[in-house]
Amino acid sequence: MDGTIGLIIGGIAMVVMVWVVPRFLGTNTVTCTRCRGSGHVSEHWPDPSKPGGWHRVEGECPKCKGKGRTKS
Ligand SMILES: [Zn+2]
Repeated sequence: MDGTIGLIIGGIAMVVMVWVVPRFLGTNTVTCTRCRGSGHVSEHWPDPSKPGGWHRVEGECPKCKGKGRTKS
């Protein structure tokens, strides 16, 4: 039982290290979900509302402006 509690506390500590500490250090950004941190996208899918009927974005990610990270 004690071992299980230790694992839970250890897991919480890991989460704190990963999520809370960077925020205290001032890096208040998260990896961009649109380009997954690469800063570049290559998107095209059918979109009737767009000219030509296709959504097309290639090159610099419009969400993070190519930085790969966005403010949370
Ligand atoms: Zn991006």
